[in-house]
Amino acid sequence: MTTTRFAPSPTGRLHVGNIRTALHNWMLARQAGGTFVLRIDDTDAERSREEYVDGIKVDLTWLGLNWDREERQSARLDRYEAAFEALRAAGRIYPAYETAQELDVKRKIALGRGLPPIYDRAALALTDEERAAKEAAGERPHWRFKLDHDEPITWDDGIRGAQKFAASQLSDPVIRRADGSWLYMMPSAVDDIDMGVTQVLRGEDHVSNTAVQIQIFTALFAAGFAAHEGAAKTLPAFAHEALLVGKEGKLSKRLGSLGCDAFREQGIEPEAIIALLARLGTSQPIEPIADRAVLTASFDLSTFGRAPAKFDEADLERLNAAIVHHLPYDAVKDRLPAGMDAAGWHAVQPNLAHVAEAAEWWRLVTGPIEAREFTAEDRDFLAQAADTLAWGDDPWGALTAALKEATGRKGRALFLPLRQALTGRDNGPDMGELLPLIGESEARRRLSEASL
Ligand code: GLU
Repeated sequence: MTTTRFAPSPTGRLHVGNIRTALHNWMLARQAGGTFVLRIDDTDAERSREEYVDGIKVDLTWLGLNWDREERQSARLDRYEAAFEALRAAGRIYPAYETAQELDVKRKIALGRGLPPIYDRAALALTDEERAAKEAAGERPHWRFKLDHDEPITWDDGIRGAQKFAASQLSDPVIRRADGSWLYMMPSAVDDIDMGVTQVLRGEDHVSNTAVQIQIFTALFAAGFAAHEGAAKTLPAFAHEALLVGKEGKLSKRLGSLGCDAFREQGIEPEAIIALLARLGTSQPIEPIADRAVLTASFDLSTFGRAPAKFDEADLERLNAAIVHHLPYDAVKDRLPAGMDAAGWHAVQPNLAHVAEAAEWWRLVTGPIEAREFTAEDRDFLAQAADTLAWGDDPWGALTAALKEATGRKGRALFLPLRQALTGRDNGPDMGELLPLIGESEARRRLSEASL
């Protein structure tokens, strides 16, 4: 049974990068008929905000990325405590007393010597007396997870292929602050175990976290922490996708703030975002596929490339227009101007880049339209048109055929004055569809008025 999760920290709204991660995890779950968990990573009480939790849910709902289970880290502190005790009893957690400044100095010294800035484990070397002295002096420790340097870390990444890390090249991660609060590293592994997560798909900025977390998982399994029902008994499959960059190929500030509110404001349909983000960075063609079952069925981690995926808003606009051209009336009817029916939607749809523009074209039907200037010759022609107009199955076809026959006009000379008189515009939706919507008497009135 596949279980995936999307684990946003509620310290802001979703942006394209994390929308993409959410979508891919959703697709993995849906493809397998599995479970998609929304996990709110809110252990950072200072930066987490309830309004962002709400905003994230509003955004996911708007995108149609429904979740089967919701979890919050702030409601699971007892589990982290239990894991902490299990790891501590197993000798995998140790207290450390360095201040942030001291650690910073150590890092700088290491870098100055051309060495990687790995924590030197000075706290592990403290004797019991030294520790007691620090405690007596009121120093409160933070807590580090002790990596096993003898255990090579490897995994077969769903996107990056075989991965290998030497634990000795990583710092023992701080997992708990001196005030007792939790950092990301251990709770995430505890949650993945408790929630039976089978696949972890996230950005490549998490690759080194995965190396560390693999040892945390393994230590928790060894400590018997995952014995309960529903818990994962083995490591999840990991995959890390290349990050999203702007079209210039650089990490872009704009992408970090581009989210659902901006998309909604620009009139971008969720389906356009989904169609783009489902395949961006993969070898599959990006196409205006509005049926997400199709996208889900074809979703395949093995098609992901290692190069950063370039996000271009112009691509999104193009996909949006193409998708709008095929949206069924039922999908948009709540957003259309009053009185616009399925025939009206069908008439204006090919002219739209965004659904909201339907209102502008619909005014050509409801009026008032812009009054145009015509030459004397065209005015005569329009008077003749008003007389010729007859109502049937295809009033436009009948009108233009009759006028062509009677006047010898054709092409632009035939069609343009009629369109201008009937709609006030030089271009627009197909007149064959528009004229029946304008209606016989209004059409005759417009033609007559233009002929004066
Ligand atoms: N809250 C973490 C983040 O937003 C989750 C990372 C993960 O998927 O484990 O980066």
